[in-house]
Amino acid sequence: MSTGEHGTGRAANGSVDTLEPQLTAADRCDSCGAQAYIRVVVKSGELLFCAHHGKKYEEKLSAIAHSWHDESSRLLTDPR
Ligand SMILES: [Zn+2]
Repeated sequence: MSTGEHGTGRAANGSVDTLEPQLTAADRCDSCGAQAYIRVVVKSGELLFCAHHGKKYEEKLSAIAHSWHDESSRLLTDPR
């Protein structure tokens, strides 16, 4: 066993992304205007969705998305 005590909680597979929130209250869902928690990069640009619409379009967009950034889990930890 190593003596490292840095528990960074990194995923064991895939690239490591920072957990820093990249979306702010100024980012709005393209469909309904609610605060965006999901950012999808596609060939034509960037799409922003709230958690609801992100889930709704995930199946359709995942096929063409270059990257899928999902901060909807913040909804569970951001009490209002
Ligand atoms: Zn929406």
